[in-house]
Amino acid sequence: MTDTTPLAVCVVGSGPSGLYAADHIARKRPDCRIDVIDRLPTPFGLVRAGVAPDHQGTKNIVRQFERGFAKGSQRFIGNISVGATVSAAELADLYDAVIYATGAPLDRALGIAGQDLAGVYGSAAFVGWYNGHPDHAGLAPRLGRGIAVIGNGNVALDVARILAKTRAEMTGADLCAHAQDAIEAAPITDIYIIGRRGPLEASFTPPELGELGHLQRACPVIDPAALAGVSADSIADPKEQKVKEKNLEILTGFITAGHDRPVRVHLLFCAAPQEILGADGAVTGLRLERTRLVNGQAEPTGETFDLAVETIISAIGYRSAAIDGVPLDSRKGIIANTDGTVAPGIFTVGWAKRGPSGVIPSNRSDSIAVADQVLAWLDTCAGGKPGPDGLDALLASRAATCVDFSGWQKINAAEQARASDGKPREKLTSVAEMLTVAAG
Ligand code: NAP
Repeated sequence: MTDTTPLAVCVVGSGPSGLYAADHIARKRPDCRIDVIDRLPTPFGLVRAGVAPDHQGTKNIVRQFERGFAKGSQRFIGNISVGATVSAAELADLYDAVIYATGAPLDRALGIAGQDLAGVYGSAAFVGWYNGHPDHAGLAPRLGRGIAVIGNGNVALDVARILAKTRAEMTGADLCAHAQDAIEAAPITDIYIIGRRGPLEASFTPPELGELGHLQRACPVIDPAALAGVSADSIADPKEQKVKEKNLEILTGFITAGHDRPVRVHLLFCAAPQEILGADGAVTGLRLERTRLVNGQAEPTGETFDLAVETIISAIGYRSAAIDGVPLDSRKGIIANTDGTVAPGIFTVGWAKRGPSGVIPSNRSDSIAVADQVLAWLDTCAGGKPGPDGLDALLASRAATCVDFSGWQKINAAEQARASDGKPREKLTSVAEMLTVAAG
């Protein structure tokens, strides 16, 4: 006989990919109980801690996600860490399906000599610092005159732009006060965005690249030789070709733009990091090897040159963190899965599933595809699992402090109340502070 207890799904991770999956399941199976748990007391993952603070429009998506929590079709339970507060096996016993949407929070290592010197940061830590992620808010990076940002993706552009902008340009952004003060006090004159391949191979998107041309105190600088003979004509996919053509047009425009600002943002191409140079344990420079492109891939030339920089931020991609009881494909840096299925009843979505690629809307279609598999799996389930009641009992037995949606609303209100000068919020950056506010 089929048990009449409603089916229960647990989504681990409250970033966009998890919440898109939760939302889809809630729409298709309104009878299903859905818990969304997060290791932080705050929801929304990368929308809060990854999206650039001056891209507030991108963050509007949280309004849609909040509606799901507000109307009760999903329940938010923050400050619960899988592997510490509860185990993966316990979740599998409590719920009919578990979806890991835990992202890719760790930096990929550069793997070159000098990477442990003071002044070298991965973009997960650096972006987490300026966005007030509790894991990284205390980073206190050493910001020098010269800053190298390694990588030719949108994260590299975000990092360079945030460092280049003035306080006035940050009006309306939620850049944390500690980061704003540090950037304003830093002696930055030269920021280098470094690609190991060419301008055509860069994964910048045109709106983000174009922003570099509209900064008050900074101007983009590019060697015209980097663009000589480069064309998007051979790109077969018309959509991709259009993006690349637009990038080339923007980069060409940078050649003739005025270079009379106090901060220069250099776009260097065909330069692969070879060694980080240091003295007394801290960065003094970056040695790069010129590359040449062979079938779109970077081949070493043996020719090197040095940049005088005191800070290096690698924006070269991310990897997922290991969770006890959840298989990790450590080569790919993702949760081991086949098209989103980890094991019967266990699924994964987003960057944990496919690696760190795609913008927020691309997560939507990917999450919905996996959520459809979850729905098909739920059709085979007999019910009878304890679900949310079982989780509540387990958390109570462990005296775990968790934060529900009303707790998040208190944190949200406190952050908005602390903000001044046109900022949407001044984030709380420590878990202890968040828990105090949520309990108030
Ligand atoms: P990405 O687009 O994959 O860029 C990573 C860059 O790092 C590539 O240029 C790559 O070069 C380079 N790289 C990798 N290993 C390297 C090494 N050992 N030495 C030198 N360079 C190396 O990743 P991302 O910038 O981290 O962004 C992740 C995703 O988030 C992307 O899909 C991005 O579009 C998205 N995002 C979007 C926005 C936005 O829409 N505003 C903002 C931020 C992020 P190769 O190509 O040669 O491998």
